[in-house]
Parts: sequence; structure tokens; C-alpha cells
Amino acid sequence: MCGVFGIWNHPEAAHLTYMGLYALQHRGQESAGIVTADGERLFEHKGMGYVSDVFTEDVLKKLPGHLAIGHVRYSTAGRSFLQNAQPLVAHRAWGSLAIAHNGNIVNAFSLREALERDGAIFSTTTDTEVILHLVARSRRWDLVDAILWALHQLKGAFTLVILTPDTLIGVRDPYGFRPLWLGRKDGAWVLASETSALDLIDAVPEREVQPGEVIVINEDGIQSLKPFPATVRAQCIFELVYFSRPDSVIFGRSVSEARVEMGRWLAREAPADADIVVPVPDSGVHAAIGYAEASGLPFQFGLIRNHYVGRTFIQPSQANRSFGVKVKLNPVRPVVGGKRVVLIDDSIVRGTTSRKIVQMLRQAGAREIHVRISCPPIIGPCYYGIDTPSEEELIANHYDVAGIARFIGADTLAYLSLEALLRSVGDPQGREFCVACYTRDYPIPADHQKIKQIRILERTAVE
Ligand code: AMP
Repeated sequence: MCGVFGIWNHPEAAHLTYMGLYALQHRGQESAGIVTADGERLFEHKGMGYVSDVFTEDVLKKLPGHLAIGHVRYSTAGRSFLQNAQPLVAHRAWGSLAIAHNGNIVNAFSLREALERDGAIFSTTTDTEVILHLVARSRRWDLVDAILWALHQLKGAFTLVILTPDTLIGVRDPYGFRPLWLGRKDGAWVLASETSALDLIDAVPEREVQPGEVIVINEDGIQSLKPFPATVRAQCIFELVYFSRPDSVIFGRSVSEARVEMGRWLAREAPADADIVVPVPDSGVHAAIGYAEASGLPFQFGLIRNHYVGRTFIQPSQANRSFGVKVKLNPVRPVVGGKRVVLIDDSIVRGTTSRKIVQMLRQAGAREIHVRISCPPIIGPCYYGIDTPSEEELIANHYDVAGIARFIGADTLAYLSLEALLRSVGDPQGREFCVACYTRDYPIPADHQKIKQIRILERTAVE
């Protein structure tokens, strides 16, 4: 979970990157960074927190140049501290390079072990740093060749934006796990994780970067390379279920429309004898619209979200256990009181959030609560960049659906089937998407113990 942005040939490159990151803030709130280039040198600024915490007018003024890349980070591989903030920058005798990454490289630990045995010293615990080391060791003089050589060593999910003093490069791994868009603004080329970022800066979406495509943009023009052997597509379906913004278009689909369709299918597959349809805001809103439409039940905002809760909240020492959810969500008593409620959310991960919400709705007087979830039970941890916990922490690995219903305190519980989810995203054969979180059928054969080792490495790192 991260967001990336890049721009080539705009006099306000840093400012537009800042705006682009603002529109991608939902993809990561732990750190933010921008690296700019003026044709000769790179300039960088990174910090912990929201984009608005890290960048001020003064900071942006110190980032000159007409090229830039930016990153918002939500740590999946690598712990959360400033050294791990991206873009990562490397200076070599023949030139500098900055890189921003969304995804997880599943063979990062093996690559790192081999590089360290060969004398490399790493300064972060992120999987992204192996790419810089590989580029440095490629023995290829041409930088694009060196990058392509490095990319060939990687297994896993990597959507990248790379900056040299005069070139912007965009990469999507051959499986296409994470999205990446190409857009235009005036005479500038833009790369961004989602169209929401292009919209904010008034860039015109040109097309999505294809799985396995490398786009090189510099004074010689724009070049599209297809350096990888063909493989299956494995775009992350959870981007459409939860992660991307509903106003974005990714993987050729409107996120909003896909979610509404999931809700329609959910109503057909799991109807409920109820009075109103209530979403868990914001994650359940679009599926609830579809559920209400297909079931004919009225849609009501029975829970209101406080949009001004920051990342950390100092709890009073007497706070009860549902405080974390209560500070974000509050029931509307006149709406839910005495009603049979269909409560819609996108997913249950550990089950603790749903449990607290159900409890809150009961206290507010709801008579019955029928929970409906717009994707199948999550049983597999994600190794490709979504921050889902280990198998043991996923509630669907402990209970069946009836057991989960009891755990969260719902009168009934139902999930959308995998077949209906795939239909909702227009891929009934399941040829375009990674659905490993619902099946544990991982598209890349990999040593998952090794993947976990990079997480162990994080824990031993010093701050
Ligand atoms: P829980 O079942 O308590 O672990 O939380 C489930 C809630 O977290 C749902 O409302 C989801 O919208 C949301 N959610 C699902 N996946 C993630 C994720 N990777 N990071 C943060 N929130 C998530």
C-alpha cells in the first residue's frame, strides 16, 4: 500500500507532485517524499506523516526543477521510520537515481542476502533498496539498460517511478499487481497510481501503463518498452474492493461502479429481511448503494464518520475498548432505533472493527443487525503490498461464517461469493486478477518463509 507520482517537463514539478500526493493520501499516511531534478542534479525532501505535515510552501520552494517523483508510504515491508521513507536516492559516480515503489518484492530477502555476501551495505530495511543495489552492480553503462537488468532479477509486485537528472521512468511488473496511469498536462507527461491524482492537477488521462511495460520519458521523447516475458495477469482485486479511491478508474474499471455492482450481487446472493441498508462509512458506501438499489430497501446513513481523526489519538486512560472505533464512527439513533438493519462493509480482516460497530448499533437501539460483506472471507495474507496480517490473525481462518457472525454479534452474516466478485469487476473467468487473499492461490510461487524474514529484519532494525 503506497502511492506514486511522477512528472516530466513542468515548471512547477514539485508543486504538482505535492498535489498529486494529496490525491493519493489514502494509499499511505506514514511518510511522504518528493525528489525533483533540474537536468543536472536531484533535490529531495521526505518526512513522516501526512503530505500536509511534510510539505510547506518553503519546503516546496527548495525543490527546483522541471522533473519530479513523489511517494506516500504505508509500511508493508520495512518498518516505519524516516530512513525507510521514499523516494530512495542513490548517488553514483556516473549519476544519481531516485526510486519510488508501490508493491512488495517477494524475493527481496534472498536478493539482499546475496548482495550483502558480495559486500553491499544497506541503509534501509525496505525491499525497494535492493533495486538500487542491483542497478549499481549491473555493469551496464546505459542507465535504462542497468534498470532493465535490475528489474529482471525481481519477483513480485512493483509499480515504480524512477527519476534521473533528466529522465522519468515508469514501470509496472508483468503481473500488473498495482495500478499506474500515464497522463498529460500542457507539455508535461505525468505518471500516477490513480486517476484521482491526474484529476486534481487537471491532467488528461492518456492510458494505463500496461502490465510488464516500462515507459521512458526524456528529451528524446516517450518510449514504451516490453522487456519481460509474457506471464499471467494478477491485478489486485482488493484495489477495487477497498483500497483505491472510488472516483478513480483503475485496471480499466471505474472503482465506484465496480463497488456498486458488488453491492447489487450481494443483495441477490444474500438478501435480508430488513428495514434499512446502512453502510460502514466510507468503505461500505458504494456497495450499500448497490445493495439498496437491488433489494429495494432504503439506503440510510445510520453511522456518521468523523473525518478529522488523525493517525494517532491520545486516549484517556479510562477509555473503553471500543474507543478507537467510537472516535471515528457514531450511530444516528433516530435512523437505526427499532430498525432491522442490513450493515454493509467491504471486508472483515481481524473482525474487531465489525464487532465494535455491531455493538454500537445495538446500543443505539437497532433491533436486528444483518452484516453483509462485499467480498469473500479473507484467508490469505497478501505478499504483494496490501497490509493484511498473518494467517493466524485473520478471523476467517478460525471460524466458519456462522462462527464469525457469533464473534461479531450479528444476527446474520453473509459474504459475496468469489464468482460474483469476479463478475462485478467484469472478469467472470478470473483471468485478470489476483484473488489470493480469498483462495491462498498465490500467482507467484515463492518461499513465503523468506518473505516473512524481511519482516523479522525490520523488527531488529534500530530507529
Ligand atoms: P477488522 O476486521 O477489524 O480487522 O477491520 C476491517 C475493516 O478494516 C474494514 O472496515 C475494512 O474496510 C478495513 N480494512 C480492510 N483491509 C484493510 C487494510 N489492509 N488496512 C486498513 N484497513 C483495512
